[in-house]
Amino acid sequence: MSLRLHNTLTRTVEPFVPATPPRVGLYCCGPTVYDFGHVGNFRTFVFADLVRRALAFNGLVVTHVMNVTDVEDKILRRLRETGQALRPFTATYIDAFLSDLASLRCLRPHHLPRATDHIADMVRLISRLMERGIAYKAPDGSVYFNIEQYRRSERWPGCACRYGQLVHIDPEQQRASGRVSADEYDKDHVADFALWKARVPEDGDVFWESPWGQGRPGWHIECSAMSMALLGDSLDIHLGGEDLAFPHHEDEIAQSEGAGGLRGDLHGKHLPFVRHWLHGAHLLVEGRKMSKSLGNYFTVRDLLAKGFDGREVRFLLLSAHYRETFNFTLAGLEGARTALARLDECLGKLRERAASHGGPAPAPVHGLVEAFQEALNDDLNVSRAWAVVFDWVRDQNRALASGAMDPAAAAAELAAFGAVDAVLAVAPDPAAGASVPDEVMARAHERVAAKKARDFARADALRAEIKALGWTVEDTPAGPKLKRA
Ligand SMILES: [Zn+2]
Repeated sequence: MSLRLHNTLTRTVEPFVPATPPRVGLYCCGPTVYDFGHVGNFRTFVFADLVRRALAFNGLVVTHVMNVTDVEDKILRRLRETGQALRPFTATYIDAFLSDLASLRCLRPHHLPRATDHIADMVRLISRLMERGIAYKAPDGSVYFNIEQYRRSERWPGCACRYGQLVHIDPEQQRASGRVSADEYDKDHVADFALWKARVPEDGDVFWESPWGQGRPGWHIECSAMSMALLGDSLDIHLGGEDLAFPHHEDEIAQSEGAGGLRGDLHGKHLPFVRHWLHGAHLLVEGRKMSKSLGNYFTVRDLLAKGFDGREVRFLLLSAHYRETFNFTLAGLEGARTALARLDECLGKLRERAASHGGPAPAPVHGLVEAFQEALNDDLNVSRAWAVVFDWVRDQNRALASGAMDPAAAAAELAAFGAVDAVLAVAPDPAAGASVPDEVMARAHERVAAKKARDFARADALRAEIKALGWTVEDTPAGPKLKRA
């Protein structure tokens, strides 16, 4: 079965076909860097990693882009509180984010654009919306998107699009209920949203020049500008948490389609900004919405400090389907530890049995890989995928116990598990015992995925990067092994 994914636009599970196979552009809304990420944030990032690896598993060559929101109200508030400058302040949390991502064995996105490095792209996009009459400057110097004009104008391709296509609610009702008073805004219409925020004294020295005066971009325009700058005007997949569907993603669609793309070269034809929208569901922790006052608020580092490791957290986050609300608990993490111990034990025994296999690396046996792919390609049906893996563990244990498995068969089963683990990434570290730095481990996992996708140039580049970090990677029948160079 070829890969099928749920599309929020159509609310159906449909075949995923990129515009120009085998290339796939994947954009994920990334972190706002003012604090350490919590486990709810990381559910979405692990989901993005699963999507990326599932695409590679299906032979597609993915370019994964994740933005970093490094200018935003909460960041500016923290700058005022701490007296720090923007760049050093956000750099601390970007580093922490990347290290958390690596400890959860997520492949590092190919591009991690920072909003403050793309202000010119955002200004360009806003300028086009101004030229088209679907944005206006308010008396305070801020620039707003004019939703009514976007809906009504048929003059530009992409305009007259339905606003609110991702959600089954009346967007105006939702916006209106969230406001204090319409009078507090300089907007023509309550539903309009800010593209450019005029500088105010509280912003300190955080501002940029623009045709509309000093200020900073709104959050929604960041994602439109950066996704199109790196992936082109029409993206294959845009992914984020379900809480971002409205208004954030709806506003991204309006801006991007309203402007006719970042380059404005859609040749008079309407191309959708995004062809396939994926949204991950919420996370509860210990049965409740996460909150610091309830004591159920965990950053990734809180969990590591409790003695859990990154792959246990990853395993638990990957145990539920991405469209289901998931209850994350510490008891669940203990369960993850037990399940992984079973897996590790089985892999250890297979390795022992395969050790005397002297021939070339065998082709993986097909049972496991095919059954896993069936499950994965059914809209990332992880419950079924894990059942396939643990049935396989049971079968291997039986075969090993009965003495019916020869070294070549053990090596072939390990190769099959290696193929599956290019998606799951829960196997014990390739360098058993030695402590491999996160950045080396992340590259080793990414190299497995690249080889699987037959992107050998990327695999070679990763081998070189691993070498530059002081490690060598050796492909063995039991999977890649890392050694200090
Ligand atoms: Zn976004």
